[in-house]
Order: sequence, then C-alpha cells, then structure tokens
Amino acid sequence: MSLYIVSTPIGNLGDITVRAAKILAECELILAEDTRTSKKLLNHLGITAQTSAYHDFNKEKVTPGLIALLKDKKKIALITDAGTPGIADPGFYLTRAAIAEGINVVPIPGASAILTALVASGLPTDRFIFENFLPHKSTQRQKLFESLKNEPRTMIFYETPHRIIKTLEDIKTVLGGVRVVIARELTKIHEEFLRGTAEELLVHFAEHQPRGEMVVMFNVRVRQNILK
Ligand code: SAM
Repeated sequence: MSLYIVSTPIGNLGDITVRAAKILAECELILAEDTRTSKKLLNHLGITAQTSAYHDFNKEKVTPGLIALLKDKKKIALITDAGTPGIADPGFYLTRAAIAEGINVVPIPGASAILTALVASGLPTDRFIFENFLPHKSTQRQKLFESLKNEPRTMIFYETPHRIIKTLEDIKTVLGGVRVVIARELTKIHEEFLRGTAEELLVHFAEHQPRGEMVVMFNVRVRQNILK
C-alpha cells in the first residue's frame, strides 16, 4: 500500500533515474497528467503498466477510487508531463488525500525545472523562493515585483514564451537594472541560459522570437554591474 511520487525528465529522456524506471516497471497503475505525453517515456522504458489520467479537471472525482485501490494494497505511481509531481501540477491533491488516509507516500526524486535552472543561473543558490507561474496581468505582476524590492533571496518563476516580453517590461519598470536569468528548454537540444538586465533581454527577444519552456530568475541584490 504505497503511492510513489515519481519524478520524470523535463526534456531529456536520459534523465530518468534507475530507481524511477524500476518503480514504474513494478507499479500496477501509473497515474499521468496526460497519458499520451507519458506514453512516450513509458514506451521508451518498455513499461506496459496500465495508465490512467490524473489532472486538475478530474482529481476530485477520481481520488476516492484511487485511495480505495491503494488501501487494497495496489502499488500506484504518480507522474506528470515533466519533472517532479506536485510542483506546479495536481500532485499535491492526491498526496494530501493519501496521507490523510494513512497511506505510505514514497518520493522518487529526479528532475525539476526549479533546481535545474537555479544551479546554472549564476545567482545566489543559498536561499531562494519559488513563486510558480507569474500572474497573467501586468498590474498584478508589477505589484508582486514591488513587494520584492527588499527581498534578499533569489526568486524563481515559471513563465510562458507568449508573456515573457510583458514580464520583462514589468521587471524593467519596477526593478530597473536587476540581473535577470532566463533558463530556456532545459536539458533539451536548444537549452539556453540568457543573462542580462530586463532591457538587454528585451533587445535579445526583439531579434529572437521567444520560444519553448522557460524559468525566470532574479535576485534584487544582484545588479548587472556586480556579477557578470
Ligand atoms: N512539475 C514540473 C517541474 O518539476 O519542473 C513543472 C510543471 S509546470 C506545469 C511547467 C513549467 O515548468 C513550464 O511552463 C516551464 O516554466 C517549466 N519547465 C518545465 N520543463 C522545463 C524545461 N525543460 N525548461 C525550462 N522550463 C521548464
């Protein structure tokens, strides 16, 4: 009777761990955010276990049945489209429900975009805050950035390519010459780290259309002229 929270790669399939592959092969049921996306990984690993969808739109409906299966001593794994379940995806809901029912929850660690981006950012790694996706509206983003003017810890956000320009404009307006690092397409062929002020990154994106998955980071103590 265990629920395994299994991290999977964030791009490069080679980043699956030996332990994750072993646990997935042993499980009777694999819960995935998008079963078609996860099939690519499972096929790559030669895993034929039954899969079932677990996402924000069905989590409330299917959780009681999954708890019943776990109580029936079924070995179940939860994976997401990419990275670590529970980080910016519905994993938390099932984990909390399982713990409330006395079910053993076992984390199988692996990739997550947060730490992968942070450790190569060049920004301080000793203390950091993950803020998930940035607000969609400029006024809310600016309000958030205002509240961070005296924040000593490194900030980490998820962002989409279609909002990054507006986000950089807001950073420029509120935080001026703070050094921003954008980690793009981590672990994939086009992996790229862009480092500079918001203004410099806006110049870059005027010539290169923003694409792919991205993590945005800054630390208000680090201005462009301090840490090259
Ligand atoms: N559970 C995932 C994790 O552990 O990183 C995050 C899921 S969240 C729904 C997806 C967001 O994570 C993307 O929009 C992007 O901001 C970030 N992300 C995921 N994979 C990435 C990658 N390979 N490179 C850069 N950012 C990535």
